[in-house]
Amino acid sequence: MRILLSNDDGYHAPGLAALYAALADIAEVSVVAPERNRSGASNSLTLDRPLSVRTAANGFRYVNGTPTDCVHLAVTGLMDQLPDMVVSGVNAGPNMGDDTIYSGTVAAATEGYLLGIPSIAISLGSFEGRHFETAGLIARQLVTRCKNSPFHEPVLLNVNVPDLPVGEIKGTQVTRLGRRHRAEGAVRSVTPRGEVVYWVGAAGPAADAGEGTDFYALEQGYVSVTPLQIDLTHGEQMGGVRHWIGGGLS
Ligand code: MN
Repeated sequence: MRILLSNDDGYHAPGLAALYAALADIAEVSVVAPERNRSGASNSLTLDRPLSVRTAANGFRYVNGTPTDCVHLAVTGLMDQLPDMVVSGVNAGPNMGDDTIYSGTVAAATEGYLLGIPSIAISLGSFEGRHFETAGLIARQLVTRCKNSPFHEPVLLNVNVPDLPVGEIKGTQVTRLGRRHRAEGAVRSVTPRGEVVYWVGAAGPAADAGEGTDFYALEQGYVSVTPLQIDLTHGEQMGGVRHWIGGGLS
């Protein structure tokens, strides 16, 4: 089995090393990851300049582009054969609810999915990053499951793992995405040269974190597995918008 690994925290990130360590003896693993932290890059492709691919001492390849660039280049240009799976992570910090819209970790897996490859994004539930090895083990179990019971259609699984020792994980729940409250306000600051600048504020706290959501599962000590789709069409609003457009615009 051939697996392509990527992430959004950069090729030097401890979560990527943990993922590689967990999968290297059960698959032929290639790593193509961004050269620096591109968290929040979402599904962006770099179209205004060429991309460089370099190889680190440990064999990981790194690209001066986004997570999406990495998977796109790997699948369409770098790898001799298509990977059987794309695994992205392990992200330092959760990607639950609306996080998935901004996440580069999810985007790297999404790119694999859009290219027709079963793909998994895996994130650790806290930013402290104490137990990447737990998420590594979960990734190993998911990959093994995919190997033994393959899906017969492309899947995109968004996985969040509590930042706990393996023995304290209660189990795995298949969940839907929850929702966060709106993000905190932008943070105004002044540079040493007097320019006013702003930091984008932190993500909001969980708003819809009820039973069945990814937030709830993590809170209870479970791994959450959410199957994602990419069609953004709001089916329920199509009739209303059709009515609103009426006979057409004038
Ligand atoms: Mn990240």
